[in-house]
Amino acid sequence: MASVTFEQVTKRFDDFVAVNNLNLAIEDGEFLVFVGPSGCGKTTSLRLLAGLESITDGQICIGDRRVNHLSPKDRDIAMVFQSYALYPHMSVYENMAFSLQLQGVNQTEINKRVQSAAAQLGIERLLQRKPKELSGGQRQRVAVGRAIVRKPAVFLMDEPLSNLDAKLRVQARKEISKLHQDLNTTFIYVTHDQVEAMTMGDRIAVMKDGILQQVDSPGNLYNNPNNLFVAGFIGSPAMNFFDVEQTTNEGEPCLKLGENLISIQKYLPQFIVDGGVTFKDRPLTLGIRPEDIYHPQYLPPDIPTVAVQATINMIEMMGNELIVYLTTAEQGEFVARFDPRATVKQGETLDVLWNVQRLYLFDREMETVIA
Ligand code: ATP
Repeated sequence: MASVTFEQVTKRFDDFVAVNNLNLAIEDGEFLVFVGPSGCGKTTSLRLLAGLESITDGQICIGDRRVNHLSPKDRDIAMVFQSYALYPHMSVYENMAFSLQLQGVNQTEINKRVQSAAAQLGIERLLQRKPKELSGGQRQRVAVGRAIVRKPAVFLMDEPLSNLDAKLRVQARKEISKLHQDLNTTFIYVTHDQVEAMTMGDRIAVMKDGILQQVDSPGNLYNNPNNLFVAGFIGSPAMNFFDVEQTTNEGEPCLKLGENLISIQKYLPQFIVDGGVTFKDRPLTLGIRPEDIYHPQYLPPDIPTVAVQATINMIEMMGNELIVYLTTAEQGEFVARFDPRATVKQGETLDVLWNVQRLYLFDREMETVIA
C-alpha cells in the first residue's frame, strides 16, 4: 500500500501540453478514477506515474519516494492495460508467473501466488490454456491476475473493461471493486466512462485538455460541480443549460426564464452577498438536471416549481423512466426524465415543472459555478 502524489506535474510532447500542472494527492488504499473525454490527458497521467513516459516538469511520489527517475520495475506498481498485453505463446500460468520469475522469486512462492490469485479470480481451471483459448472476460481476469501476483503498492488500470460487452462490464466492475476491498491497496483507474467512474471510485479526478477540473467524491461531483464542464460531463442524460438574463421584479432581483421570474433571494440565496447580487453584470447560464423537471401529474409534494411550456420532440421509454426531449420557443431544447407512468405523446405541448430548488447558476464566460 502507498499514497501517490502528483506535484505540479506537466508533460509536453514537443510544444503540445498533454498534462498541465497536475496537483493531486491520492491516499493510501484509495480507489481514484481519472475520467474525461478522449485526449484529455488521463492515460498520459497514468503513464507518467508508471514510468512509461518521462515527466517534463514537477514530481511524482509513491509513498515518500520521489520516483521521477526510477524505471517502471522499481516503482512497486503493476499495470493492467486496455489491450491486456498477454503473451500469446505462454499459458495463463506462465503469463501470471513471468514477472515473478524475472524478479528471481523462488518457484514455491511463485506457485503459491499464482494459485492464490487464480482462486481469487475464479480462473484456476484455465491455468494451462493459451490466451487465444479464452473469452474476453477471462483474458481480462488473467491480466488482473498478472498484476495481483506481484503484490504491488499501487495498481494502475487503463480502461481494463472497454473490450467487454455491456453485461460483462457490469460484472467485471463489481469484481474489481471487490478486489480493491479485499486487497486494500491503492487503485488508480482510467476510464472515459462516467458510469464506471461513478460506481467504482472513492474519488474521481475529472480532466479536460490536460487540466484537472475537479477531484471529488461521486456524490459531490454530481451535486456540487465546480464548473460547466464537470456539470455537463457527469450525469446522463446531461444537465440542461440555458442562457438567462437578470432582471428585477418590484425591486427584487430575479432571473427571467421565459414568462417566469425566479426570485434569486428565495431560490438562489447563495447568489446574494452583503445584500446585493454578486456577478450582477455578468452573463449567466442556468443549469437543471433532467430528473428535476417533472410531468405535472407526477410532481412529488412540497417541491417549489415554475411551469415552462414546451413541446415534446421525442420520447425514449426506458422501462423505469421516460427520457423526454422537449423544445420551448425561448429556451430551445432540453431533456427531462419523467415518471414512466406519465402519458405523453410526440408533438404534445404541455407545462413541465422545474424544481427551482435544484437550479445551478454559472458564469457563462468564466464557466465557473456561482450558485
Ligand atoms: P483516450 O481516452 O483517447 O485514451 P486520454 O485522455 O487518455 O484519451 P492521452 O492518451 O493522455 O489522452 O493523450 C493526451 C493528449 O496527448 C492527446 O492529445 C494525445 O494525442 C497526446 N499524446 C499522447 N501521447 C503522445 C505522444 N507519444 N506523442 C505526441 N502526443 C501524444
